[in-house]
Amino acid sequence: MSVLDLARPEIRAMQPYSSARMEASGGKILLNANESAWAPSGEAGKGCNRYPDPQPAALVNALAELYGVHNDQLLVGRGSDEAIDLLVRAFCRAGEDAIVIQPPTFGMYAVCARIQNAGVIEVPLAADFMLDVDAVLAAVTSAVKLVFVCTPNNPTGQPIPRDEIVRLAEALRGRALLIVDEAYLEFSDAESVSSLIDSYDHLAVLRTLSKAWALAGARIGCLLANAEVIALLRRIMPPYPLPLPCVAAALEGLSAQGRADAYAHIRVVRAERARMAAALATPPGVRAVLPSQANFLAVRFDDAGAVYQRLLAEGIVVRDVRRYPNLGDALRITIGTPEENDRVLAILKSLAMDGRVLADGSAYGSVSGKHS
Ligand SMILES: *Cc1c(COP(=O)(O)O)cnc(C)c1O
Repeated sequence: MSVLDLARPEIRAMQPYSSARMEASGGKILLNANESAWAPSGEAGKGCNRYPDPQPAALVNALAELYGVHNDQLLVGRGSDEAIDLLVRAFCRAGEDAIVIQPPTFGMYAVCARIQNAGVIEVPLAADFMLDVDAVLAAVTSAVKLVFVCTPNNPTGQPIPRDEIVRLAEALRGRALLIVDEAYLEFSDAESVSSLIDSYDHLAVLRTLSKAWALAGARIGCLLANAEVIALLRRIMPPYPLPLPCVAAALEGLSAQGRADAYAHIRVVRAERARMAAALATPPGVRAVLPSQANFLAVRFDDAGAVYQRLLAEGIVVRDVRRYPNLGDALRITIGTPEENDRVLAILKSLAMDGRVLADGSAYGSVSGKHS
């Protein structure tokens, strides 16, 4: 059996769009794509009178080397969000098939499924936010085509042990694709499971330049998977997904200097994460800091709403995650620069000393000039 037997048959059968760039390459005078013969005004648009390479070789080479896969096992898209969407559209028949997710988790898996009118089967994480492999497997009916796991998980921060991912992959062979979202892997102690792609043709891994690589604005993300899966998704991907300036930004980000910067910032985030977790363990009003291997901390408060409002009043925006199951008292705080983190800690300490906001839920006053 091929993993493509799990895909929508009409997608496998369809004739993909054939773009001008795909039909002919080389040549010096390009009169085949109805582009402008003139460069646009301004430095920022340099080269943009031409459609971009659908999968620029230099970027594919750099990313394949970074992630340790072959070039044909990698698809570059507009953030890993695009890969999630392509997977759901290629594998889930509307009104018939389904995905499995483990809330509380990243919202885009369910959103993409709903847009496609695929079912969303929720298998909640255990109370300690660990993955319940047996419960996930019990939920995999013949309608399920994709099982998403997120490690470290957003918004809780815990990683899934590698042997549990292997156990899932073993059990899902021939039944469903296992999609492992490693958006925050760079901040963790864990090793990528992309080395398992050669052993499991139904395993796919999501990576992104949006977090550790400081390129959220460039929208560059990857799917690492079996070459047949990559080729299938390319059939339904828009013809020119990657804007030229974004590709240039990504290539600079992945240069020797870019790598040195990224690794330096990852070290700072990891150190600051430990410092913040320790400092947040003490103020009254904090119930718990969830252990995190990502670039954020989920923190439980006696009155998360009041803390959120007070931070906002001081110009600091954190993520209110109280709508997620099991996180009804939590905020997700991204690790910033040491100075930004100091500011958060100072406000939380002043709230605790104040005693007032955390006790009665009012959220007024400021750290610098307290007024009653
Ligand atoms: C941020 C994030 C992404 C990344 O999305 P991009 O589209 O690559 O920016 C993917 N998965 C999770 C869990 C995330 O938190």
